[in-house]
Amino acid sequence: MATIDNRALEKMASPAKYIFEHLHEAIIRIAPEREKDLKNELAEFNIIYDDTFKWKLDVDPVNKELHISRKVVEVVWSSSYSYYKIYKGAWEQLDPTAIKIIDLKTKPRLKPAINLLVWAYSSWLDEKNGEWPPEFPSPHPVMFTEQPSSESQLISDLSLGALAFMLHHELSHIVLHHDAKAPSVQCENDADHNAMSWIFEKLELNLNDKKIFRGLCCSIALSIITVRDIYKPTPRCYTHPASYDRLTNCLSMYFPPDNDKIWGFVLSILVYHIADSYYKIPEKTYDSFYDAVQDIANQLSIWPSTVFGLKSLAIDDYIPSKEDEAIFNNNGGIAFCARDSRLQNMPVVGANAKHFAKWLHINKPEISVKVDSSPSLALHAHDIWFALVFLASDITLPIFLNLVASYVYDQLKGALHNDKSNVHFSVVYKDGKSSKMKKMNYDGPVDGLKCFLDKNSAKIFFNE
Ligand SMILES: [Zn+2]
Repeated sequence: MATIDNRALEKMASPAKYIFEHLHEAIIRIAPEREKDLKNELAEFNIIYDDTFKWKLDVDPVNKELHISRKVVEVVWSSSYSYYKIYKGAWEQLDPTAIKIIDLKTKPRLKPAINLLVWAYSSWLDEKNGEWPPEFPSPHPVMFTEQPSSESQLISDLSLGALAFMLHHELSHIVLHHDAKAPSVQCENDADHNAMSWIFEKLELNLNDKKIFRGLCCSIALSIITVRDIYKPTPRCYTHPASYDRLTNCLSMYFPPDNDKIWGFVLSILVYHIADSYYKIPEKTYDSFYDAVQDIANQLSIWPSTVFGLKSLAIDDYIPSKEDEAIFNNNGGIAFCARDSRLQNMPVVGANAKHFAKWLHINKPEISVKVDSSPSLALHAHDIWFALVFLASDITLPIFLNLVASYVYDQLKGALHNDKSNVHFSVVYKDGKSSKMKKMNYDGPVDGLKCFLDKNSAKIFFNE
């Protein structure tokens, strides 16, 4: 028998509790035609509700125990509300051949939706413990129906459907006897496919409205995972499939490329978040919403080298000249050189090189710093330029990148809207492993540098 441990609801202050109260029904109601199958295939499982501000959604396939936390429900309801409003308010009449960015923040009608979304994602991703702001839209007591009669009920139904997809994914790990200790891409894909076929396989073909409704629910669930990766990119790991692959693969099972309702909805979600993050939307037109979603998924898949705003992050071998070898005169430290032809056809150092050198002198007096006496040049007022930087053997690349990040954040402190500034530099260093000279070029947003410095991505990128 399936059991629910809902003791957490007794003291739960979050309005997420109104959604929790219907969660167990949602598992059945997302595909009521399979109620009997559920009893046959999954006679026993236990769901435990958890009143925590951290995202928790997992399963122990051996003990058949599933956990779902308050934060999951908060994010899913807020996303359902906001994505529905964004789609209705700005995208529904959009032409797929003329996809352009609409600054949704300037639309007063969408303000509550955007505020809610910002709160939901930032409290989730920054793991901030905070209650649902009372002035924001929130769930009310609801009934889960297949024919919602009001907009607020439709939104709650969408959120319950999205949660049902997430729970069916977890339940699939039980049905498929997966080993929680040995996660694999194959297991995750199989759980996704099993959840999708649970929801769509036995739905009568003539019930297209129901198919679309269920598709919207799955789109919300799968988009949330992709959006997390847009804000917090993680390097490809080989135990979990990439979120954008999950999104496109799952929906493609039942929604062909010409289904503009589903793909348009997904695109509206991705475009909003990409425009809101430090990435840039590709400036292209597409034949269909589906093509646009696929292109964005492809762009996300090649992170960190050439994604959107990150124009270039490349590392090549570097052959030092005699002049280069003389730079340090056997002293260690950092040298800024005026030989970067990328800036101009004359020897200049980037506008920030001299300033950065001063900053280093104050903050890291132990590091020896040299700056070429050539004139400095500013190209974009808000951007940060260093020109060509040489590192002596006592300064490793990660040390240098962390210094750059600290300097840049110091510069931006208190400055409004400057978080979209770009940083440009080339740095020559000795690779610790191969002992070869390498040159790294970086042209991209400040946030991209911060993300890149995230230990794991830097490690994977440098094959450490
Ligand atoms: Zn899973």
